[in-house]
Amino acid sequence: MFNFLFKNKVRKYTFSGGIHPKENKHYTEECPIEKLPLPKIVYIPLSQHTGKIAKPILKVGDKVKVGQLIGEADGRISANIHSSISGVVKDLKELPHPLIFSRVLTYVIENDGEDIWEENIKKEFVEKDFSSEEIIEKVHKAGIVGLGGAAFPTAVKLSPPKEKVIDALIINGCECEPYLTNDYRLMIEKPKEIILGALLLKKALEKNSKNIRLIFGIEDNKEKAIEIFNSYKKEYNFEVYTLKTKYPQGAEKQLIKAILKREVPSGGLPFDVGVVVQNVGTAYACYEACYFDKPLFERVITVSGNGIKEKKNLLVRIGTPVKDIVNYCGGYVGEIKKIIFGGPIMGVAIYSEDMPIVKGTTGILFFNERDVLLEKEKDCIRCGRCVEACPMGLLPCELHKFIKKREFDKARDYSLLDCIECGSCAFACPAKIKLVQSFKFGKQEIWKKEKK
Ligand code: SF4
Ligand code: SF4
Repeated sequence: MFNFLFKNKVRKYTFSGGIHPKENKHYTEECPIEKLPLPKIVYIPLSQHTGKIAKPILKVGDKVKVGQLIGEADGRISANIHSSISGVVKDLKELPHPLIFSRVLTYVIENDGEDIWEENIKKEFVEKDFSSEEIIEKVHKAGIVGLGGAAFPTAVKLSPPKEKVIDALIINGCECEPYLTNDYRLMIEKPKEIILGALLLKKALEKNSKNIRLIFGIEDNKEKAIEIFNSYKKEYNFEVYTLKTKYPQGAEKQLIKAILKREVPSGGLPFDVGVVVQNVGTAYACYEACYFDKPLFERVITVSGNGIKEKKNLLVRIGTPVKDIVNYCGGYVGEIKKIIFGGPIMGVAIYSEDMPIVKGTTGILFFNERDVLLEKEKDCIRCGRCVEACPMGLLPCELHKFIKKREFDKARDYSLLDCIECGSCAFACPAKIKLVQSFKFGKQEIWKKEKK
């Protein structure tokens, strides 16, 4: 009799802890992906990934095509870098990097307005079978890194140590940071391409492991995406898990816990519990790398916040300076107080409009006086809200106390190194204590001591 009440009841998976910040995705979730006009000049840093900086292979004055290799991966944990426009190399010098707080060797390339692509980049999709080795090689050649923000070289993630048996590949479609909708738009505009990319990632992992489950994890605020992916799951043999909208649902450890109930051990990696996690954008990039031989020289970003006139989702060439995006989006609204690369919780504030988009840039948020309340930090009132919010089960208030007293060994004993720097504790803290900055500092001090 009451069946209708349960008809649409879907089990929603989650983890313990976390926070519910205001989503603010309504600004851009209905904005289809638009192509940003080609920039006149690009600034392409040779480090846009976790690991060693790439080695420059062109010199000033050289002509370059779109997709041409300009920086070669140096060693195992590194990534290739390609030009995103055609033109001439104007300079190769150290410039400020938007994510690493130092100067990094960067190519300055001037556009010739021709948009000439490397000849080997294919124009049409042709169905084909690839071996695991071929996929890993193509992903490496294309310079693909995790596009959820972490920028870890994908080819390395696809090559777990031989002794690690992988039985699940999770494709992360959570996009749990407020404001960002670039992954969501990709999921509803390019679902089949993402699925084909995910199948390639799964095939690559089959080099060492068989019977790998392919799972898409999507937060329940993305109903349309869940519906679309559910409609393909029988045809392509994968599972879709609906996850509760909660921050940081998209963090690897929390995602694995929510879906598979497995706990990544302290200091361990998803490999250790038989799992690999890849972002939906990364799956799409793998599809393009394998079927089109297209290197990673452009990506989708969200442009949002009260400080920008037109909020959008844009397909942007890597190296495009922020000011080009501001111009295309109609300029600023009010006085800009903060520009953030990434989401408002884990993102990084940048200080110049000349900063370029890099592979790990998920979005740019422009905050004016309406968004930024500069609240003064107060003393801890021992309310315990940070403890409740911490998805890693840590005691943030205690950790902060030790770090303030420079008792780094004690902070280590209280598992500071397990902190994923998600910012949930700082968000929940009524005293507005800058907990994440404190933890970053504490970790650096521990690592410095360990290196000695
Ligand atoms: S930043 Fe670290 S301590 Fe704070 S909630 Fe996240 S994991 Fe816990
Ligand atoms: S939330 Fe802030 S004020 Fe409350 S216990 Fe944690 S650090 Fe202290």
